[in-house]
Amino acid sequence: MKLYLFEAGILKSQRHFFTLNQGVGENFDVPVPFLLIDHPKGKVLFDTGNAYEIIHEKKKHWGDILGAYDPVMTEEQWCVNAIKKVGVAPEDIRYVILSHLHLDHAGCVGHFPNAQYIVQRDELHFAYVPDPYMKLAYIRKDFDKDVDWYILEGWNTDGFDLFGDGAIKIYFTPGHTPGHQSILVNLPNSGPMFFAADSCYTTENLKNGTLPGLMWNAGETVRSVNRMRLLQETQGVKVVTGHDPAAWKEFKQAPEYYD
Ligand SMILES: [Zn+2]
Repeated sequence: MKLYLFEAGILKSQRHFFTLNQGVGENFDVPVPFLLIDHPKGKVLFDTGNAYEIIHEKKKHWGDILGAYDPVMTEEQWCVNAIKKVGVAPEDIRYVILSHLHLDHAGCVGHFPNAQYIVQRDELHFAYVPDPYMKLAYIRKDFDKDVDWYILEGWNTDGFDLFGDGAIKIYFTPGHTPGHQSILVNLPNSGPMFFAADSCYTTENLKNGTLPGLMWNAGETVRSVNRMRLLQETQGVKVVTGHDPAAWKEFKQAPEYYD
């Protein structure tokens, strides 16, 4: 098994969107990560980064959210092109696990013709009818596609073991959104790695319990972060946060990989 970390460009933003009431107005450029896992039983993506359209017409595609998050992505960094650099074609992808359906995670739904798209039911519902404060973060034309959805059911399917061998387990981590999910990847040599995505943006959120600047439910956010902290302390799991520019730089980037 090989695990590749990719960056679909960055979001030019401000710190207080990631740490509530802290660093107000301070420039903060964050990575937009996604993963490729090459498992013997099939190739898996965890998130897909931004839509292709934002390369050339971001105002038209993303609208007013550009005032808070301004994406910068090259053709080579676009998910579909990026995986080709490690010899993987879009047709090769068997599963696309979506942490949630925000615009910087679900931008490439529909580009992997043989894939099932694994999403939480609560997320799919909320993405179509979001609360007003989160409306701009969902781009309906990105995810409203006739793809093969594979629906997970919150706590009822928590810890879902994708291939039945413990290699990739999907954890329900609500808080940032109602149907957020994260993955635990058990690597034979590198050990267990937990990819939080937006359930925990940065090391500051993880270590100090600082709330993020954007969330659906504060209580659920705290519980989800506590849970990954526990995994870290009791099982030696390496937690990879979702949008931390400093922490992200410490990890190997594709074409290098973890195995
Ligand atoms: Zn998000």
